[in-house]
Amino acid sequence: MRIAILGGGQLARMLALAAIPLGHRVRVLDPSPDAGAGHCAELIVGEYDDPAALDRLVSGCDVLTYEFENVPVAAAQRLALRLPVSPPPAALAVSQDRVTEKTFLQSHGCATAPFAAIADRAGLQRAVVELGLPAVLKTRRLGYDGKGQAVLRQATDLDAAWAALGNAPGGLILEGFVDFERECSLVAARGRDGAVVCYPLAENTHRGGILSTSLLPGPGLSAALQSEAERVMGTILAALDYVGVLCIEFFVADGRLIANEMAPRVHNSGHGTIEGCVTSQFANHIRAITGAPLGSPAARGASVMRNLIGAWPDPARILAIPGAHLHLYGKQPRAGRKVGHVTLIDPDPAALAALDALIG
Ligand code: AMP
Repeated sequence: MRIAILGGGQLARMLALAAIPLGHRVRVLDPSPDAGAGHCAELIVGEYDDPAALDRLVSGCDVLTYEFENVPVAAAQRLALRLPVSPPPAALAVSQDRVTEKTFLQSHGCATAPFAAIADRAGLQRAVVELGLPAVLKTRRLGYDGKGQAVLRQATDLDAAWAALGNAPGGLILEGFVDFERECSLVAARGRDGAVVCYPLAENTHRGGILSTSLLPGPGLSAALQSEAERVMGTILAALDYVGVLCIEFFVADGRLIANEMAPRVHNSGHGTIEGCVTSQFANHIRAITGAPLGSPAARGASVMRNLIGAWPDPARILAIPGAHLHLYGKQPRAGRKVGHVTLIDPDPAALAALDALIG
């Protein structure tokens, strides 16, 4: 089949790398002529809302998917009149706005942090009284990797947070601060026939709001949490008549799952599935959107996935670590930018220590 992807970054690149062995051809649209997926897929350079660029992207393609959730919903809906769009545009609409997303999650039986939509400075004051401090003020839209958010610890923090975020287009949300024990995520895929596979829960650690490490299966996550996460996932996938990979990120607090957000796409916390599971999240996304049977999500071992952020060490030094799988995304290093990742399966302590020493 011919697969069109909105976005040409590392997720599209890894999707293309999973699609090629299955005999598919991939075309991506990205505003940057340097987009990393252009190394292994046909690259159309253009804006996501440019009708001519979108037309070139989907022309002759059998299915359209995307690698990020901020695709203009109207563009996805228009394209859905011409070819199957998976995941469905409705999933974009839910996940693009943190208030809509949390309302949707709650209405499908999934606990979230308490929250309030904030329209103005007085509204922030009222919400702080209602939810208490500490709390987290976030932009409703376009926040990622901890950007567009501020933790409010005391009343004197409000003015600075409002000055930084108050003008965000789309408004703000105030969330109660979750005093979590750990963070985890569930990656799952749903096929066109409604079949669902769920990966083991990944245990995630962040640095500066950016995912740093994912352990798969998460060593601190019980079978009871896995089945609760799968129950929530199944409900949400069915409600959206979803096709493709979906990720839900959770906090674990007092032994319970509290959903933070969902991503209607392949997810960074699932990169360890490439070597760590029988079928990677990328292969299962491609299988799902092309109507093929899904593959087993079972873990082949305990994987440790570490992101390379801002810079990468000499690749030869990473590859000298026994069992290290290196993925570079073809991006120029820049502060805070994910430029690659390394995965180790069932690593011995010496290999982990060597990786820590190299990437900190
Ligand atoms: P997000 O952009 O919502 O994924 O948030 C980035 C990171 O900030 C999360 O992975 C958490 O570590 C932290 N965080 C976000 N929301 C909350 C919250 N309501 N309570 C505590 N920590 C949070």
